[in-house]
Amino acid sequence: MANAEIGSDIGAEIGVIGGSGFYSFLGDVTEVQVDTPYGPPSDSLFLGEIAGRRVAFLPRHGRGHHLPPHRINYRANLWALRSLGVRQVLGPCAVGGLRPEYGPGTLLVPDQLVDRTKSRVGTYFDGLPLPGGSIPNVVHVSLADPYCPAGRAAALKAARGRDWEPVDGGTLVVVEGPRFSTRAESLWHQAQGWSVVGMTGHPEAALARELELCYSTMTLVTDLDAGAESGEGVSHDEVLRVFAANVHRLRGVLFDAVAALPANEDRDCLCTNALGGMDPGFELP
Ligand SMILES: [Zn+2]
Repeated sequence: MANAEIGSDIGAEIGVIGGSGFYSFLGDVTEVQVDTPYGPPSDSLFLGEIAGRRVAFLPRHGRGHHLPPHRINYRANLWALRSLGVRQVLGPCAVGGLRPEYGPGTLLVPDQLVDRTKSRVGTYFDGLPLPGGSIPNVVHVSLADPYCPAGRAAALKAARGRDWEPVDGGTLVVVEGPRFSTRAESLWHQAQGWSVVGMTGHPEAALARELELCYSTMTLVTDLDAGAESGEGVSHDEVLRVFAANVHRLRGVLFDAVAALPANEDRDCLCTNALGGMDPGFELP
């Protein structure tokens, strides 16, 4: 693995935020350390190539998985990716199923998001000066449709191409964690009609939108949430076991999805103009 300093001409067009299982076997990977006005991202970024596309991988929880979901520096992560040239981001994550039919091994590509987190900074437009002195303006982006339609289409196509029929659409509710839901919380999530529950999907999607990045996720169900089954509830061991059993499959889908994404300059989705010409008050990286 080669090392490179920021400032080199190494870049990427697509970002993947996920576990080390997604890139660790790639042959020619360059490790790049990036700093941001918000501090360092979760880890180094690992640059490699898939189907001729330059991809930057970022281990969301850091190598060795030392960062709990509520301690991840989401702003630094998205900023770092964009500073390398990334304009489209795929952020796969493990989730709990909120319906009996969404059992372990289900691949669901959500089209909606509910934020039930508590302590995370979910915006770049917080009015606080950046280290360089520029002050973000008050900007409100639309998150009515939180996921890039092109990214969702690529994920769905990739899953079907590998005979893994995905659930097309659904609502991901993101909780603060790191604990799992109580039975009452889980039953309430189900009663709302939401589909899957996770801990990392927010504020990733919102921050990506503020930086005019295309962002979508694919969720792997690793367990039925506490209220959707009658047993002991979720255990971390069970989550890890199901994830390990499916990571190879998920990697295949992810790579095919990367290959199916449009070229950055060919994007025609609304994400590319999320600020609608409004001045963010700082220079996008
Ligand atoms: Zn888009």
